[in-house]
Amino acid sequence: MATDLQIAIRKITSVNPATGEVMREFEPAAEAEVIAAVARARTAQLAWHGLGVQQRIHVLDRFRELLHDQKSEVARLITHEAGKPQVEALLTEVMVVLDAARFYSENSYAFLRDQALPHANLAMKTKSGRLAREPYGVIGIISPWNYPFSIPATETLAALVAGNAVVLKPSEFTSLIALELAAFLWKAGVPKDVLQVVVGDGSTGNALVNANIDKLVFTGSVATGKRIAQTAAARLLPVVLELGGKDPMLVFADADLDVASSGAVWGAFMNAGQACLSVERCYVHRSLYQPFLEACARKAAQLRVGNGMDPQTDVGPLINERQVRNVEAHVEDARLHGARMLAGGVRRTDLGPNFYAPTVLADVTHQMRIMREETFGPVLPIMPFETDDEAVRLANDSDFGLGASIWIRNRVRGEALARRIQAGTVMINDAVSCFGVSEAPHGGVKASGIGRTHGIFGLEEMVHIKYIDSDRLPGMKKVWWYEYGPGFTRQIEGFLDLMFAKSWGKRLQGALRSAGVLTRKGKI
Ligand code: NAD
Repeated sequence: MATDLQIAIRKITSVNPATGEVMREFEPAAEAEVIAAVARARTAQLAWHGLGVQQRIHVLDRFRELLHDQKSEVARLITHEAGKPQVEALLTEVMVVLDAARFYSENSYAFLRDQALPHANLAMKTKSGRLAREPYGVIGIISPWNYPFSIPATETLAALVAGNAVVLKPSEFTSLIALELAAFLWKAGVPKDVLQVVVGDGSTGNALVNANIDKLVFTGSVATGKRIAQTAAARLLPVVLELGGKDPMLVFADADLDVASSGAVWGAFMNAGQACLSVERCYVHRSLYQPFLEACARKAAQLRVGNGMDPQTDVGPLINERQVRNVEAHVEDARLHGARMLAGGVRRTDLGPNFYAPTVLADVTHQMRIMREETFGPVLPIMPFETDDEAVRLANDSDFGLGASIWIRNRVRGEALARRIQAGTVMINDAVSCFGVSEAPHGGVKASGIGRTHGIFGLEEMVHIKYIDSDRLPGMKKVWWYEYGPGFTRQIEGFLDLMFAKSWGKRLQGALRSAGVLTRKGKI
């Protein structure tokens, strides 16, 4: 009986968050299956790497064509499993992946090919240096549910084009869309053992971290990221950790009020606030505070909350009950500590199991959970500031450092302020959409993580650098080899003068003293 119960609890269930409908159940991959998947990946990776980058780029191009043909079907599946409106599924998932495939197709060859490394040091002039970028081997990818397609896809594309095999452990809430991603890549020509999906929850993820992978790319919460970092440290497994955020939005006195308030409402409520780059804290110059509050409250109240399959829907459901409870707890804590509710603040049980009304809070403080912890829901807490210094101090008063946005007409001032914000990305006059810039690195500082995905920096995470040093005079012993002695020491001192002395006179003297170095005979 207990065993039956355990099995029932451990089943992985794909549920439509808007309706509660169970779409499919999976058996989670056990530790032994994960180990076997990694072993198969290791074997298959050699031939995949051997294909060469041009062939792998062709596979990416085929993937892009197939995905483009099926874009609407994929968007529908994303909406069914993750809840977001279809427009967002198309823009923030499908388009991001199509463009990432385009980017890696256009840029991988130039990045991955060997690069000559000329030396300036006279002592090393007989050598020719070269940088080779080599795949790690097997990359483990563990991904969250909030961008169930674009996050695993962009990371997988980068890993594959660099010549790695991938074992992907998607979120237990969005297994179907991860399997769909794999189906597209297999159809495009990626061998099945080169990309494998292991469906499961945290224990399957833990098995992957402990399996024989060569690098791990993890996207998820800070709590899980820290656990993974500890496990990885024990075996020096390299990791990329893309963790949570508490992104500040700073609205300066000269900002366009209508644009900034619409930006705040979209930045806080798109994907029902479940984006790592969501606007989670908003600071407004005192001169705009009151009209800004009114504009945000009015615009939030106008948003149409509902099933993402309805093309009229602006804000879909949250992913599950646990997420709704987290939002409720943060809003309740703010209310108890004196925040004013200008819109929302209630669950929408009339619409389905996981809906929460877009919520605008005023008079919040940094003592409230809503301004310190990641809420990951449709809540926009707003507080005023007086000076630039105060705005920067408030923005940086956070454990997190993923993204931030600055809203200002004077872009020169905006860029100067951006330098002072502790974050991986600072956007000026927009929020969140940097995730769709395929060229731009994505990642954070402080508790928001380590390493980068996307763009060339994301590709760089998928390779290790090998320096190949080839001596052009194989028949000559090196001058710095044994045997040492006082004469040789003086010659070396002369050589250092020749190379580094400030005056030309000293350099000349050094050249004379070191002359013997170049023709040092009798060494061992
Ligand atoms: P989560 O940490 O609960 O889970 C993420 C993944 O880790 C899931 O696949 C889960 O099954 C797996 N996992 C859980 N425990 C594990 C363990 N002990 N070992 C290995 N794997 C384990 O996060 P979530 O709720 O799925 O995602 C939301 C979080 O992700 C938010 O904090 C959000 O900010 C963050 N996120 C960050 C980025 C970014 O790029 N920085 C992007 C999207 C989401």
